Amino acid sequence: MKYDFLIVGAGLFGAVFAEQAVKKGYRCLVIDRRAHVAGNIYTEEIEGIQVHRYGAHIFHTSDKKIWDYINQFAEFNNYINSPIAVYKNETYNLPFNMNTFSRMWNIRTPQEAKAIIASQIAELHITDPKNLEEQALSLAGRDVYEKLIKGYTEKQWGRPCTELPSFIIKRLPFRFTYNNNYFNDRYQGIPVGGYTAIAAKMLQGCDVRTNTDYFTFIRENPDAADRIVFTGMIDEYFGYRLGALQYRSVRFETEVLDTDNYQGNAVVNYTDRDVPYTRIIEHKHFEFGTQPKTVISREYSSEWKVGMEPYYPVNNEENNALYRKYRELADREKNVIFGGRLGQYRYYDMDKVIAAALEAADAAL
Ligand code: UDP
Repeated sequence: MKYDFLIVGAGLFGAVFAEQAVKKGYRCLVIDRRAHVAGNIYTEEIEGIQVHRYGAHIFHTSDKKIWDYINQFAEFNNYINSPIAVYKNETYNLPFNMNTFSRMWNIRTPQEAKAIIASQIAELHITDPKNLEEQALSLAGRDVYEKLIKGYTEKQWGRPCTELPSFIIKRLPFRFTYNNNYFNDRYQGIPVGGYTAIAAKMLQGCDVRTNTDYFTFIRENPDAADRIVFTGMIDEYFGYRLGALQYRSVRFETEVLDTDNYQGNAVVNYTDRDVPYTRIIEHKHFEFGTQPKTVISREYSSEWKVGMEPYYPVNNEENNALYRKYRELADREKNVIFGGRLGQYRYYDMDKVIAAALEAADAAL
């Protein structure tokens, strides 16, 4: 059977594109290397708890159109992300706010916090921050940088903060109010029943084949579809012919524990360099779970190598320059749309992935 679209990757970009295409009457085949749909937003139930298998996903957006769109596929709860940071034996609230500063310096007012940060910044003489370290120092001063940013960032990215782009730290709010909400967005929550059900609903009406590698499939079925939507790694698509882009991978050690509450919060970051993992997720707290047991995942970051799951593009100048060359090849590829974190080599949040997929669908359908 010939399809209008072969969609490679059943993650969020692929699923949204497929949903739009099916709605307009196109025939779609969605394939995925993994044994399941939903890509990295995949969740599975263990001990009655939705476990985020490929890392914590908290949905947040300021775009009403995207919020309304995703709410067609699930009901969202009122979870608000408020991570805790542990540095040696000290505990802080995130993102960087008056609770953090008050604990750090034993002060109470925004004026006091601003004065301390200003005096730390004045010693640094940074006018135009050129990398993550300079950006973080110029926003938060030396104490916050040394205790809450440097170790965590270097573990997560495996590179010194001086070699990382500043936009990464600008993702996080920095505010002088006692507000522990990690995001500034208008809408936020966790889908009741997990993310896998969202992808499955979006994919209704298409044919889906899991455990199916694109490169093998297309060799055997070169005429399977008129057009392709490719959400895998763009450099792999081109056989790494211009060189390999760098990605970070993440490994999870997941455990079921015979206690109802291990850490009292969904997300606890370990910002100290000497702790080998970056954070521990206690999944039940995303859904205010009351199960007798709990499931936790310790998250370890590493450089991506062939055979691992790629998670984060490393958007430094060298990689972005190489990506632009792949982009030129991609633009010449007739009838192929590249999308998602891996296809567009972008550190995308879920709402931005949905927006990009809806846009790509609008343009293509
Ligand atoms: N970050 C940090 N300390 C923390 C949490 C985050 O320095 O305790 C920095 C770090 O550089 C990280 C970036 O903020 O890469 C973005 O964090 P976010 O939580 O948005 O990352 P994600 O959840 O996408 O992995």
